[in-house]
Amino acid sequence: MAKIKMTTPLVEMDGDEMTRVLWQIIKDELLIPFIDLKTEYYDLGLEYRNETNDQVTIDSANATMKYGVAVKCATITPNAARMTEYDLKEMWKSPNGTIRAMLDGTVFRAPIKVKGIDPCVKNWEKPITLARHAYGDVYKNTEIRVPGAGKAELVFTAEDGTVIRETIMDFDAPGIIQGIHNKDKSIESFARSCFNYALDTKQDLWFATKDTISKKYDHRFKDIFAEIYEAEYIEKFEAAGIEYFYTLIDDAVARVMKAKGGFIWACKNYDGDVMSDMVSSACGSLAMMTSVLVSPSGVYEYEAAHGTVQRHYYKHLKGEETSTNSVATIFAWTGALRKRGELDNIPELIDFADKLEKATLSTIESGKMTKDLALITDLKDVTVLNSQDFIKAIRETLESL
Ligand code: NAP
Ligand code: MG
Repeated sequence: MAKIKMTTPLVEMDGDEMTRVLWQIIKDELLIPFIDLKTEYYDLGLEYRNETNDQVTIDSANATMKYGVAVKCATITPNAARMTEYDLKEMWKSPNGTIRAMLDGTVFRAPIKVKGIDPCVKNWEKPITLARHAYGDVYKNTEIRVPGAGKAELVFTAEDGTVIRETIMDFDAPGIIQGIHNKDKSIESFARSCFNYALDTKQDLWFATKDTISKKYDHRFKDIFAEIYEAEYIEKFEAAGIEYFYTLIDDAVARVMKAKGGFIWACKNYDGDVMSDMVSSACGSLAMMTSVLVSPSGVYEYEAAHGTVQRHYYKHLKGEETSTNSVATIFAWTGALRKRGELDNIPELIDFADKLEKATLSTIESGKMTKDLALITDLKDVTVLNSQDFIKAIRETLESL
């Protein structure tokens, strides 16, 4: 059979440890035999990031802005232990953080649903996609441990010297204070990314804050979403048959637990941090979660939600067998290939992405899976496969479709 041709290259960001091992097997077994794979390759493995003083990360983000679609392998975010392990010149920043800052993006995460691995919340028939605002609030805070009695004030000094001053608290004893901020521009980007992604995936969009209590801070989020929706999206949403729905965060949480799923839940930074862990653990496994970074200008970077699976990699280095789940990494590739197919109008590429996802899920549904899934499935007669054999089993299913 002739291989599928591509016109524009995908930006390929290779990574570290066990996911780097899976990356190569996925390409060899599931992609290169079927596609004339056209990628612009960037090695974001920690050794090469160190060699290039992290320039390769910046180059890969620039390439993503140029071509519009990237697929990324999980990468190590250096800490003290990695400094010695890799003999690093510097504690390089998280590549995801660098790329997110350059693309000004929002991260959307959704569980991959498969028969036999059901969410603990029985009524979640469809995945819930979580959109987390990735800038500011408590993640960029300033805090003071108040030693004793005194006055705490919130002071803003404008460039022209004008001062706005509010009393936070007249302390009569020790306590704590915290200053947080956000920027209109960042909230606007977040809103547009969410509205675009809702249109892209034809799903309703929910957004919630605590605007009844936070009458200026959270209210600003609510207002910016409403203004952008009315000015730019209301007609597009009507045409697509989808809805934008705003409510209070506590009401949203209560409704989510009773919902059927199949919508996007946009969250402020902290809410998104907390709620994405709740949604993913309720759905079984981090290795069954897709993740895509979408910029307000419509640039897409697909990846797995998990890390480099270090523990498995050390076993692999010792020559021991591993059973690492490659589903999220496979879905990062299919997401990127499908998007490339849509942008370049290559229906065969879109079909291939659909088929590979179907082959992956039916392989699991037929009882062949990695150990992490075998531990949580209610399917009987399960065969636990090692990392490589699981990918080979998917290839067999793919060739039979
Ligand atoms: P991790 O790689 O997500 O793995 C944590 C544990 O979760 C694993 O030890 C394993 O549990 C389980 N797990 C995760 N993915 C799995 C998979 N595909 N198949 C089977 N089991 C899986 O997190 P980590 O060990 O905390 O971090 C390792 C490195 O990844 C760190 O250097 C961190 O900086 C990096 N990281 C990168 C990204 C990214 O690039 N997006 C995200 C997070 C972390 P068992 O050991 O019990 O089998
Ligand atoms: Mg978290």
